[in-house]
Amino acid sequence: MFKKILIANRGEIALRVIRTCQEMGIKTVAVYSTADKDSLHVRFADEAVCIGPPPSNLSYLNIPAIISAAEITNADAIHPGYGFLSENSKFSKICQEHDIKFIGPTPEMIDGMGDKATAKATMIKAGVPTIPGSKGLLKDVNEGIKLSEKMGYPVIIKATAGGGGKGMRIIRSSEEFQDAWDSARQESKAAFGNDGMYLEKFLENPRHIEIQIIGDQYGTVAHLSERDCSIQRRHQKLIEETPSPFMTTELRKKMGEAAIKAAKSINYEGVGTIEFLVDSDKSFYFMEMNTRIQVEHPITEEVINFDLIREQIKVAAGIKISGKNYTPKLHAIECRINAEDPYKNFMPSPGTITSLHKPGGHGVRVDTHIYGGYKIPPNYDSMIAKLITVAQTREEAIAKMKRALKEFVIEGVKTTIPFHKQMMRNEDYVKGNFTIKFLDDFEMIK
Ligand code: ADP
Repeated sequence: MFKKILIANRGEIALRVIRTCQEMGIKTVAVYSTADKDSLHVRFADEAVCIGPPPSNLSYLNIPAIISAAEITNADAIHPGYGFLSENSKFSKICQEHDIKFIGPTPEMIDGMGDKATAKATMIKAGVPTIPGSKGLLKDVNEGIKLSEKMGYPVIIKATAGGGGKGMRIIRSSEEFQDAWDSARQESKAAFGNDGMYLEKFLENPRHIEIQIIGDQYGTVAHLSERDCSIQRRHQKLIEETPSPFMTTELRKKMGEAAIKAAKSINYEGVGTIEFLVDSDKSFYFMEMNTRIQVEHPITEEVINFDLIREQIKVAAGIKISGKNYTPKLHAIECRINAEDPYKNFMPSPGTITSLHKPGGHGVRVDTHIYGGYKIPPNYDSMIAKLITVAQTREEAIAKMKRALKEFVIEGVKTTIPFHKQMMRNEDYVKGNFTIKFLDDFEMIK
């Protein structure tokens, strides 16, 4: 087992990893930018190294600074968390070259899945159902128009390097194509330094359902069932739950098998997620694979009583898994609490938290790095907490969430708590009646 793990991340996920390491008797090293010097991950780790100024490209994405921090502290492994360098094959390779274990997939596995067009091609070869569309990247706008006319509109063009909902455009007619093409490519070039685009049929009303998988170094892969992440705003997840209200035993079996097939086709090692879109007739299509731990992993942990970070560290250290698939025994929901104003179009609201009261009690989990007096830096993601409830049934998990949201007091900044309160009372949500379009015409009640 590793003796010391450096966590190349910040915020709640850095804390989350430190907690498991402490329980496993593994020493931890935090890295931080100057904006995060008063953060809890810095205080909770055994050692901490400053790696640069606030902008991510100079700190949390600064590979030489992170590798030096690992070398001077003698860390034998690096946990990348999510975001930042977690799906960067170059970083995974550099860790290898420095004899530091990257807790995640090898560079080859990331490359096989990181670029979305390549991932899709790999899945088609492996016989996993994918959304109909272009074979790989589009050469030019004319190829896109020709293909769309053949397939029928609407279509969606997507950046092969995309993430976080960026670099995508829905197109409903050939006249719209050129403008959408130009703006999506520009956005993608600016955000990811790559403007390769591919095309898919746009599914009008699907659900986003993903399967958690885990693979060891000896070719065994198991699935840990699904998470329904259909409640999204601008392609970004806000509420997740498991099991999905839409799921059946038969569909779970089929999707679980497809996810395992997908992971095996690239000899996947570590924890990962296969994202699918599922149509109303229960046909499902591979969308992408995330080769890292995800924000919403706690709901899976809660329903099957399983520490995913612990398992992730164990498989990285070469320990075998049993290969048993897990199905949920309970129901869990996660609400992402962002420092944003839901009454003002979810405008970011950084600032200082003047007062804080976290909810508690049976079946309530709060994963967060904030505390009273904490200053939210404007440089990073606006998510400041994840509120998770778990209960015997969906109804009880919702009741618990309502109660916990009422107890959660965050003063000094605006948060998405009022949005979640409204959602937990929304009739369609409560009935489990929703798709990815749910929030398209959602309005806050003043
Ligand atoms: P990202 O990596 O940026 O999150 P994804 O490929 O995971 O991008 O897509 C994000 C979201 O965009 C999905 O959850 C879904 O809501 C929507 N989406 C993507 N592709 C399609 C499609 N072909 N039809 C309908 N919606 C789509």
